Amino acid sequence: MKKMMKRAALTGALICLLLALFTVCAYAAEQKVDAISYKMDLKLDAKKNTLTEKVTIRVKNNTGKTVKELCLRDMTPAVLKYDMKNYGYDNKKLKTRVSSVTLKGSKKKLKLRYAKGKTVIWVKLGKKGKLKPGETGAVVVKMKTDIPKRQDRFGWQKTKNGRHYALSFCFPYLADNRNGKWQKDPYFDDGESRSWDLANYYVTFRAPKGYMVAATGTGKTSKGVTKITAKKVRDFAIVACDFMKKDTFRVKGVRVNNYYLKGKYQKTYRKFSKMVAKDSLRIFTEQIGKYPYKELDIVPCNFGMGYGGMEYPGLVMTNAASFLSGSYCDCWSLSDGLSHEIGHQWFYAVVGNREYREGWIDEGFTSYLEKDVYGLTDCEANRYLRKIDKMVSSIEAWRADRDDLIATARQDWKGTKINTAPGKYSGGQEYGPAEYDESYMFLQEVRLQLGDKRFAEFLRDYYKAFRFKVVTTRDVVKMIRSYDNSKEMNEILNFYIRM
Ligand SMILES: [Zn+2]
Repeated sequence: MKKMMKRAALTGALICLLLALFTVCAYAAEQKVDAISYKMDLKLDAKKNTLTEKVTIRVKNNTGKTVKELCLRDMTPAVLKYDMKNYGYDNKKLKTRVSSVTLKGSKKKLKLRYAKGKTVIWVKLGKKGKLKPGETGAVVVKMKTDIPKRQDRFGWQKTKNGRHYALSFCFPYLADNRNGKWQKDPYFDDGESRSWDLANYYVTFRAPKGYMVAATGTGKTSKGVTKITAKKVRDFAIVACDFMKKDTFRVKGVRVNNYYLKGKYQKTYRKFSKMVAKDSLRIFTEQIGKYPYKELDIVPCNFGMGYGGMEYPGLVMTNAASFLSGSYCDCWSLSDGLSHEIGHQWFYAVVGNREYREGWIDEGFTSYLEKDVYGLTDCEANRYLRKIDKMVSSIEAWRADRDDLIATARQDWKGTKINTAPGKYSGGQEYGPAEYDESYMFLQEVRLQLGDKRFAEFLRDYYKAFRFKVVTTRDVVKMIRSYDNSKEMNEILNFYIRM
């Protein structure tokens, strides 16, 4: 018996070793050129409204072939073009320019080739720079861009209290690649088309003195220089403002920096955003899983009407527009928007997906967090909202509204598949309804089929299985089928998803 045990243990150890080797090999065999880190030196000029950037991109060749050329993305030409066309009154002759790309440690400019409205930059690495399989190298991108005057993710605004800068979609990055193929999804103003790759960011950000700086990761500001570190993130964002302050508190071991804009209605905003943040973070942690980063920044922006907010890893921009003018401090929208953006920390920041092609994945799961997991929970924020806004009906009434939507879902969504990329829409389809509302209905039908308890288990398992990975529609389907592969479940899958 003892001997047998020993042999079994030995065999077990051998199997483990083989499995580990296999995992390592499988990982190494993942055919991709990987961006490991971004070292960024950024300077904000608040007089000219420009951003000067020096970005060192460290890259590893995890493919079996020598890489002679890198594909970089710079979305600023597309963003500025869009703004000049659609917000031309405030944005004339905006400029952005990459002045050079060099190998790290060299002054020699590398040969560049632009494509797709200059959002794709092919960089010839030359003899010295080419990367053999397994090799690591770095390129340095120097660029300068105008910051548009716009209430958006990349833009500046002036109010009577001061200036506000949202800086995102403005940093160059390595294009994602799968099986050696570079992804060149276009800039998409209604939604996102960002990199889904995980990387470390080391950032030095210079802004005029007196600016409060919020950013992905953790940072410290001294004399106008902010040093920031953000590890294992898919994207990076900064908000700098000279009339912003912050409250800091802890929820479930996470440091939350709740920023607010100075003004007449700051008290209402501070109080309510804190409640929503506390409850959302607590409820999602308890019901889905742990939030992996040390810090979460909640940053108010003055986005226009109907704009909920924007998610980044470790940072959410929330729409505080109604609290700036004070015409009607819209706590209801803040509650929906903020809990939604916080939900994206689970489904986008941690469980990644290709936002442009399969936006339904992060938006659908996040809508479920916002509307059901948070929205239908009796918590402090929800009770307070109902106390101050009599227009908000009870949680029971919300649940009944949801059930009405489920009842008509098959008529409402007939012929529209949730996994359709914006470039493939037909028949007047626009971005939004399918990605948010229809995918929310899809998850409702899956929930009804599995039952509440099993569905809650499914969400937790899904989060655990794809933590810091990139999930595809096929992966989601596979996982649902592993829970229930009945005829009924497959009928639901076929109704909503193009297989
Ligand atoms: Zn969203």
